[in-house]
Amino acid sequence: MKTLVVFDFDHTIVDDNSDTWVIRCTPDQTLPDWVEKSYERGRWTEYMGRVLTYIGDQSVSPEHMRAVMESIPLTDGMLELLTFISENKRDIDCIIISDSNTVFIDWVLHASGLKSAIDDVFTNPANIDARGYVSVRCFHAHDCTQCPINLCKRRVLHDFRENQAKAGVHYERICYIGDGGNDFCPIQELREGDIAMPRKGFTLEKLLCKAISEGPEALSARIMPWTSGNEILRELRALIE
Ligand SMILES: [Mg+2]
Ligand SMILES: [Zn+2]
Repeated sequence: MKTLVVFDFDHTIVDDNSDTWVIRCTPDQTLPDWVEKSYERGRWTEYMGRVLTYIGDQSVSPEHMRAVMESIPLTDGMLELLTFISENKRDIDCIIISDSNTVFIDWVLHASGLKSAIDDVFTNPANIDARGYVSVRCFHAHDCTQCPINLCKRRVLHDFRENQAKAGVHYERICYIGDGGNDFCPIQELREGDIAMPRKGFTLEKLLCKAISEGPEALSARIMPWTSGNEILRELRALIE
């Protein structure tokens, strides 16, 4: 049976937030107040729609935006980890579940040469329209009260596992690698034998510590904090060998 590796994208595969990195492609490398202050809690995707429209209005070409997005740094050890995964596809399936968007993730994966490691990407759909603007839409609607309105990663993971099972693919274990508050919900979907891998010093690690102190029985997965993708690589190698 295979191992399923699930990655978050921002601050996990890449060492920054792609949605704020994109601001570097504007002439002033900043957003005006009226755009910045238009963010409403839980409605990030709609806010990003306004950011991307503003960027388009500044006559930023998609080519320039792409070059800026391709310069976002990968997190330490992620190149090695994803290369290892791409060389072990017989034993490892790998997906990304992210609140970024398809255009940014595609650009970064393509530039890093790591596309072959990834079987599927679940994120907000985006495209470049006829004007050359990037437009982004919500990934799905869901009924989870813990998550932002456009994406519940637990729902995505649950549906993915169910669809794979229907196709006859069952996983020996799931390794979930992330850093953020919205990675906490999917970790509650993990079972015994699965591994939650929170980035050390980031929000997810703090949420997991809090949850464990309040009642360790709520989480079934083993927890392995990391600072470098190389630590995850060592763990994964030991697991599949
Ligand atoms: Mg993240
Ligand atoms: Zn949720």
